[in-house]
Amino acid sequence: MRKPIIVGNWKMNKTIAETKAFVEAVDGYCHDNADWGVATPYLALQTAKENAKNLLIAAENCHFENNGAFTGEISVDMLKEIGVEWVILGHSERRQYFGETDETVNKKMLQVLKNDLTPIVCVGETLEEYEAGTTKEVCKTQTVAAFKDVCPACASRTVIAYEPVWAIGTGKTATNEIAQDVCAYIRSVVAELYGPEVAEKVRIQYGGSVKPEGLKELLEQPDIDGALVGGASLVEDSYKAMIDALR
Ligand code: PEP
Repeated sequence: MRKPIIVGNWKMNKTIAETKAFVEAVDGYCHDNADWGVATPYLALQTAKENAKNLLIAAENCHFENNGAFTGEISVDMLKEIGVEWVILGHSERRQYFGETDETVNKKMLQVLKNDLTPIVCVGETLEEYEAGTTKEVCKTQTVAAFKDVCPACASRTVIAYEPVWAIGTGKTATNEIAQDVCAYIRSVVAELYGPEVAEKVRIQYGGSVKPEGLKELLEQPDIDGALVGGASLVEDSYKAMIDALR
């Protein structure tokens, strides 16, 4: 039985003070019906960690080296120092605006897993790819590349987020049927790589304009084990409404 995992992706939103206020308001409201978390900008991670007992706190990115001449980057060691255990990797905004490639996502996966942190690795097709009918091909390519040289034990604790790019921040969501179909397909790709036991353990989230109202039905899909949520995770009331939706 896979425990649902719902993580807010705050992107470049919330100051340290706003983060503290959010965590203070929401942390005690979390329910063990799921793993609940937020990914915050780097600057607010320490404050989030210090104020969270229940919320898992994730970084939105990291570098694949330990240290060195990489101006503006943050290493896994730095995240570990403040107790951060989760990292989003390969978000489509990183791929689209910051030159993230399948190769760098894989290097980051290896670095994160080697250090016992847990990656939430994002895959998903653009609108053009969706319209061309290549969704599964794109997701397979990204998944296979992300897991290159990842051992089975590490693979089984990784979270995959299927995020169709055309559904992120657009208000358009994939139907539950489409999301289920693609998540099941991604699980079959993991099974091809590692066998059915690992595939059964991997948690797969859907992300793309998820709102509290649709969350319960989304998570009733057999291969959808959670959600990566942007906009609806920023407001305390809508985050709490997601928690309520699963009570
Ligand atoms: C995201 O940032 O990963 C995301 C899915 O955003 P939104 O929920 O706003 O579409």
